[in-house]
Amino acid sequence: MEKSIKVRAGAVINNTHLEADNYSKLYDPGNLNELVGEVALGSKQDVDKAVQAAHKAFQTWKTTPADQRAQYLLKAAEVIEKEAQGDLPSLLVKEHGGMLWEAETDFYLGNGVLQYYSSIAEDFMKSEQSEDDASWISVEKVPKGVVGAIVPWNMPIILTMMKLGPALATGNTIVVKPSPTAPLALTLLLEKIANVLPSGVVNVVNGETEAGSSLVDHPLVKKVAFTGGASTGKIVAESAAQHFKSFTLELGGNDPAIILDDADVNEIMPKLLKGIFTRSGQICFAVKRIYVPNHMLDSFYETLCQHVDELTVGHGLDSKASYGPLNNKKQYDLVNDLIEQTKKTSAEIKVLGKKLDDDNWNNGYYILPHVVKDKDANSPIVSCEQFGPVIPVVPYDSIEEVIDQANDFEYGLGSSIWSSDFDRALEISRSIEAGSTFINSHSFDSLSLGMPFGGVKNSGLGRELGGAATLSAYIDYHSIRAVK
Ligand code: NAD
Repeated sequence: MEKSIKVRAGAVINNTHLEADNYSKLYDPGNLNELVGEVALGSKQDVDKAVQAAHKAFQTWKTTPADQRAQYLLKAAEVIEKEAQGDLPSLLVKEHGGMLWEAETDFYLGNGVLQYYSSIAEDFMKSEQSEDDASWISVEKVPKGVVGAIVPWNMPIILTMMKLGPALATGNTIVVKPSPTAPLALTLLLEKIANVLPSGVVNVVNGETEAGSSLVDHPLVKKVAFTGGASTGKIVAESAAQHFKSFTLELGGNDPAIILDDADVNEIMPKLLKGIFTRSGQICFAVKRIYVPNHMLDSFYETLCQHVDELTVGHGLDSKASYGPLNNKKQYDLVNDLIEQTKKTSAEIKVLGKKLDDDNWNNGYYILPHVVKDKDANSPIVSCEQFGPVIPVVPYDSIEEVIDQANDFEYGLGSSIWSSDFDRALEISRSIEAGSTFINSHSFDSLSLGMPFGGVKNSGLGRELGGAATLSAYIDYHSIRAVK
């Protein structure tokens, strides 16, 4: 290993970290001069080794009693809790670009997810017997086999644990493919988790498209759990369908936040800002468009701009920063393109906030917060998933109109209603086409481990988090009937 390369993420197979033939280099998105590590470019052969290991481990893991599997999950949760206090969150900041508190949140949420599945799976896995004059029936739940988990870069720890928790708790084994732009902390964490579990239960293959598609295509992978962009999700679904594999897709979002005329604008601002700018806007269910009553448009826009102007942008390890750089050049270019397109329209756009380190600004994927007042409800910044620190504010004239606008686009992941009247907000919530609608919040605080999370329309298929809604996607029902 070159001396300057501090971390190298290869593969983890049968609880052993394996070196690869080829690697790509990873630079800090907040300081592009700094090499953070290297990630393996895993091949089809590497994927096969990992899947074979997981398949072998499955033969024993599936017969391990559910309460023992739950104990193993608790051990894995303890690993995350311990590592959350070590160096891995800072490593995640350096490879990802986000803030240290966001990286720590990723770890703590991941720990919570494993604890949650450890507590509910034993009950869920119980078979149900019944008998009448005609027959005796047993409905049993059996794990599927090897799960292929493919994750993106934005919250790598929790998004992996949302798959690993239900997979292992129900008796499946797993091969995880991290994102090539945030693989290091996750791979090191998974290696430590693998080491407290029987050999081969948790495996990791790093890589890009070849590794991802080989995992989806592998005949011994019986379920694919994918989180990422909608276009990749479509490829994954088409490929899984060729082999009649089951799959869960958690895709993109373009979440609307609907402000009602009775909302206390000053009071809701801190929560709204959190929903927009956490992780620099790179959260699948971030607030991505705001709707306000027409008569409140100017005053709301001014208040929002005042608050946004207080934000500071800098390196994720600088505690004075409100948010950090974007994760990668593709995302940085996409957001800048949208900003440029918006500047060419009649929309008003304000560039706000402060740069914390002017000298380093062009040495990272930094973007100041932009707030757009856009009367065109179909402009690109309103209709696309921006996944960055740019937020459009759009006026509406009636509740019927804003419901139509909120439901108008391809996505349906999260959404929120902001009002001081709970009953009114609840009634409107029920008309929104989305997997989740939050009242008076729209961030990680809005999630609850027992509440199914996922999307409708192009935001995905299936659910994560939640109890039976998620666990049932990791098992097959086996009905046994003895006719008398
Ligand atoms: P992406 O789709 O580019 O990549 C996701 C993963 O898929 C990566 O690990 C990638 O290497 C892998 N991959 C790429 N091509 C593949 C193929 N042909 N077969 C199999 N795997 C392949 O997404 P991204 O840029 O990493 O993440 C951003 C997107 O993820 C955004 O659209 C965001 O909204 C979405 N996302 C959704 C959720 C959710 O829960 N709904 C959560 C986080 C992110």
